[in-house]
Amino acid sequence: MKHPDLPIVYSPHYSIPWDPKHRFPMSKYQRLYELLVAEGLAHRGNVKVPSPCPRDTLALAHSLPYIDRFQRGELTERELKHLGLVWSEPLVRRTVTAVGGTLLTCRLALEAGLACHLAGGTHHAFSNRGNGFCVFNDLAVAARYCVEHLGLNRVLILDCDVHQGDGTAAILGNEPRCFTCSIHGARNYPFEKQRSDLDVPLPCGTDDTGYLAALEQTLAQLDQSPLPELLIYDGGSDVHQEDRLGRMNLTDRGVIQRDHRVLAWARKRGIPVACVIGGGYDHDHQRLAERHALLVRTTHRFYRDYFSQSDFAN
Ligand SMILES: [Zn+2]
Repeated sequence: MKHPDLPIVYSPHYSIPWDPKHRFPMSKYQRLYELLVAEGLAHRGNVKVPSPCPRDTLALAHSLPYIDRFQRGELTERELKHLGLVWSEPLVRRTVTAVGGTLLTCRLALEAGLACHLAGGTHHAFSNRGNGFCVFNDLAVAARYCVEHLGLNRVLILDCDVHQGDGTAAILGNEPRCFTCSIHGARNYPFEKQRSDLDVPLPCGTDDTGYLAALEQTLAQLDQSPLPELLIYDGGSDVHQEDRLGRMNLTDRGVIQRDHRVLAWARKRGIPVACVIGGGYDHDHQRLAERHALLVRTTHRFYRDYFSQSDFAN
């Protein structure tokens, strides 16, 4: 199937009615989408709308009792406190649709070479519990789906969100076909880290130069392992110096260079890339949407330059 423009995955269910003062920036998804529409990067021809992830697919990474208790609104007060979210039917729909969105993004990436999800990266969710705004782990579900059902032998999750992908590491710890790599703030949440296949902890205040050097070393290390057939890339915007929770010092330019470098590394090795926007925090949701747009713009440019003329699958 030909994809003349970067495939973008988005659902109008992502931003649900929500207290605008709540710590979780719920409106950022819709704002990001509208920003991309205004710029002409998202349009009827390239936006794909995901379906909710089926229960048996969620079960590739989560226990059935946990899945069912969340869907029925039966999580305890304590569990909801760890999640930091307010339960509602629309929250359930947005949550399972966002996992479906990352699955669709992986499928599109395998067809087109590159695709971008305007949500995803809920990497703090463990098999039987949620944490830090993450109910289900879309990265782990998608990676396991690809090896169980799409015949892939090796999937790499490169998690450049500023927080460690602890849930992903825990869920996929015994899955040799899925390689987890997390570049994150050493002294940021989660304070109890898990062991990814490759962890790259960075000090607070890391700037563009320090970050890009660490990324370069990481990519060189990834070259030492067998190459994956799919890269799931979490391009979290919370490494940005203006992020409320990130404690890093990357500029717009640094974020753009990070994303471009990851895409170029994969392209050179013929690895399709499924991007998710990951975390990003700001009381001003519009500015936050602007920071997430950096990833989509970089991906869009990269796609136009390298993929739009070719059928990647052939
Ligand atoms: Zn984060």
